[in-house]
Amino acid sequence: MYYSTNSPGQDVSLAFAVVKGLAADNGLFMPRRLPRLPQEFFSRLPRLSLAQIGFEVSKALFEGEIPEPELEALVEDALDFDTPLVPLDDDRHVLELWHGPTLAFKDVGARFMARLLAYFNRGQQRVVRILVATSGDTGSAVASGFLKVPGIEVVLLYPKGGVSKIQEAQLTTMGHNIEALEVEGVFDDCQRLVKQAFLDPELNRALFLTSANSINIARLIPQSFYYFRALAQLPDSARPTVVSVPSGNFGNLTGGLIAQRMGLPIGRFIVATNANKVVPEYLETGVYQARPTLPTLSNAMDVGDPSNFARLLDLFGGKVEAMRAQLSGHWSTDEQTRRRMKEIHQRYGYVIDPHGAVAYDGLAEGLRPGERGILLGTAHPAKFKDAVDQTLGLELPLPERLAHSMALPKVATPLSKDFADFRAYLMRKA
Ligand SMILES: *Cc1c(COP(=O)(O)O)cnc(C)c1O
Repeated sequence: MYYSTNSPGQDVSLAFAVVKGLAADNGLFMPRRLPRLPQEFFSRLPRLSLAQIGFEVSKALFEGEIPEPELEALVEDALDFDTPLVPLDDDRHVLELWHGPTLAFKDVGARFMARLLAYFNRGQQRVVRILVATSGDTGSAVASGFLKVPGIEVVLLYPKGGVSKIQEAQLTTMGHNIEALEVEGVFDDCQRLVKQAFLDPELNRALFLTSANSINIARLIPQSFYYFRALAQLPDSARPTVVSVPSGNFGNLTGGLIAQRMGLPIGRFIVATNANKVVPEYLETGVYQARPTLPTLSNAMDVGDPSNFARLLDLFGGKVEAMRAQLSGHWSTDEQTRRRMKEIHQRYGYVIDPHGAVAYDGLAEGLRPGERGILLGTAHPAKFKDAVDQTLGLELPLPERLAHSMALPKVATPLSKDFADFRAYLMRKA
């Protein structure tokens, strides 16, 4: 059973929460119970794959809403890659979350959500159409997550000339059930077109439209799995483990807190942000003040009013003191981020992307004596090739997957920024 953070007294099913995404009262869905996993599970943990962990954790959370064989097949299909833990030294380890198809940690949530949505849509005649406005990275992870998933079609809107060459190649070469629309406008136009489509009654009668945005509980839950996988790969030690999470909308951190509540022994979390530091500020002052977004080097974390803050409040009963006991705030300037990228390269011979470097900075300054730390690597460094090449003075080779999409022919439909054109485009599918 699930509830909305704005109506804690009412329960809905998992199917309802996943298909709906955002609750009607604008709250975010949360699991009613976060059951503690048995000791027997933790004894087996070191021998389990990411998918096997995902099966055990979701089985406990879903309480029979999906029959076990179906759930197991779904998780195996979604998480067919690992999240390896790479030691830098005895105290610091990087959990590489970017071994999925688009080389970003968002693959984990997007692939799981796609399969869960397809499962809940089974047996229906309708095609579920996912509308996604993207400024680059999220769109390709979401689209790739839904690629070839039956009963689902993805319509991607991206601003013409507003995404990098690599990103455009990722968005426009998938084919199958993924369509790309190249909008004569900026990202805000794309977002406006999508919002207007959701508000158009006639369009919504003719088509089953939905979004795959990051607040969906189906994207959040799988982000708890890799925390278990992380601790499973650490050498045995009595030292408390601290995890540094590079954060924007705080979905990644919320996943870690769910894992901790289910019994995973994480000592505390370092909440690492760039100059968009509303949550570290909240931890310091107890006052939540949303701010306009500041552009930074770690741009996937440029968020001035994080959407999962409501879930953090919910998990800690709205008490900042309770939050402070588990979460330590830290933020980095772009200059510190660049300095850390160089330090990690020189000291360990490891190339990290700017988001991972923010997490490293949090660990380097925040780790206390006797603790050991894990930092989350959220993107392959080549996804932020320009920043990495420039900071480290090198020429990163393009990974096979990115080079492959660069070589495929681009297929995109040009579209004006007028809603009437987008509407007509969608209506032709009815
Ligand atoms: C989305 C993203 C983040 C931030 O994750 P949240 O769950 O929004 O806090 C960090 N790094 C990268 C590379 C991302 O794409």
